[in-house]
Amino acid sequence: MSGNRTFTMLKPDAVENGHIGGILEKITASGFKIVAMKYTQLSKRDAQEFYSVHKERPFYGDLVEFMTRGPIVAAILEKDNAVEDFRALIGATNPAEAADGTIRKLYATSIGENAVHGSDSDENAAIEGAFHFSGREIY
Ligand code: GDP
Repeated sequence: MSGNRTFTMLKPDAVENGHIGGILEKITASGFKIVAMKYTQLSKRDAQEFYSVHKERPFYGDLVEFMTRGPIVAAILEKDNAVEDFRALIGATNPAEAADGTIRKLYATSIGENAVHGSDSDENAAIEGAFHFSGREIY
């Protein structure tokens, strides 16, 4: 059975470009409830750990550099079928391939600087949410 929570980050490019409000509006208008949220900045160690699954990939260094260069918004979102529905809402990793109306189509600039993160499984949603939030920060 699919779970009802996912984890997102509005990445440094989205924050720098003034898209926090637009993206949050799109998320809530699509039926997601925000159950935890914070404005924060990843340390190099945080980003290396968060993206450790990609550590052998050629873009890993650039990804860590990008994700630490400025503040992000981290949030846990609730909705039936949250992981799958949120991946559909954000669109393909590469904004050039993202469907019309998706967050990445609207707000991302490149495959690396693609505005938002969305968990890819219920298991990762739980791990990633716990990486950023303690139980008492989730409402
Ligand atoms: P996602 O699940 O759609 O975020 O995509 P992945 O898990 O495959 O990749 C994680 C993140 O790494 C992406 O959201 C991008 O920010 C970055 N990334 C993925 N592929 C590339 C690439 O080819 N080049 C660069 N520079 N960054 C990439």
